[in-house]
Amino acid sequence: MNLIDGKAVAAQCKAEIREKVAALKEQGINPGLAVILVGDNPASRVYVTNKEKDCAECGIYSEEYKLPENISQQELLDLIGVLNENPAIHGILVQLPLPKHLSEDLVIGSIRPDKDVDAFHSYNVGKIMQGDYQFLPCTPAGVMKLLDAYNIDPAGKHCVVVGRSNIVGKPMAMLLLHRNGTVTICHSRTPNLAEMTRQADILVSAVGKRELITADMVKPGAVVIDVAMNRNDAGKLCGDVCFDEVKDIASYITPVPGGVGPMTRVMLLENTLTAAQAAAKK
Ligand code: NAP
Repeated sequence: MNLIDGKAVAAQCKAEIREKVAALKEQGINPGLAVILVGDNPASRVYVTNKEKDCAECGIYSEEYKLPENISQQELLDLIGVLNENPAIHGILVQLPLPKHLSEDLVIGSIRPDKDVDAFHSYNVGKIMQGDYQFLPCTPAGVMKLLDAYNIDPAGKHCVVVGRSNIVGKPMAMLLLHRNGTVTICHSRTPNLAEMTRQADILVSAVGKRELITADMVKPGAVVIDVAMNRNDAGKLCGDVCFDEVKDIASYITPVPGGVGPMTRVMLLENTLTAAQAAAKK
């Protein structure tokens, strides 16, 4: 078994981004990210703090907008409208989930596609389908970087993605397809999950159910990527995969924590850099 070290790969990516940011600053462009947090969800609060810290480490300017839980849809759209026009801001990220009275579709749809560093806007989703994109959603993009870092080529492999969310499962499947994998997508209505996962040369699990993927569900020698972030009974972070039993069967495996998570964080920085580089060319 080879452990896929997301922390190490992310640190290397960060160092490269830091250099590129410095080069851009020499041309007079200071990459900037605006992060909008509505309400006081503790998990979202932690994510936003981490994003600011990551930006600071790479020399990216960041602004945080902490908005009250009861903000109106129009007020939020107005703020995004202002940020859309602000030349110092290259990326806009609205931390999800939003309070129930706000429409996520409307809010994400109001972000200018060239500043949509989460790549959730329908325009960017469509571009990803076509394989002609500026941004990729951070988690699937991070998984692809990890595969590349370990010279794991999806071409000709059977790639099984468990989970079909818009932010992870579906784009993940699309990226593996663009890289010439033969892709199967599984979900909660897949009748015999183990039968599908056992066929995987590359298995990506993005469900959010601890101990979902057991050793008998993994083909010997498979690459196993665990996207999920769950808590075990002791409150410790864990993924979908029974790591201790699967690690002896897999050829490569990501740990949780320390696998996909750090890559997701670093891809936001990369997308912000990409947006700033594109703005510099205009
Ligand atoms: P989500 O929107 O809840 O989607 C979960 C998917 O899993 C759905 O497509 C669902 O199927 C499927 N599913 C549920 N139970 C299943 C089962 N028993 N067998 C097969 N499929 C099943 O979650 P998400 O936002 O994609 O996130 C997935 C996990 O990744 C979560 O643990 C989340 O915390 C984690 N995550 C991690 C990162 C990171 O940086 N590491 C980033 C994002 C998310 P249906 O569509 O049929 O309901």
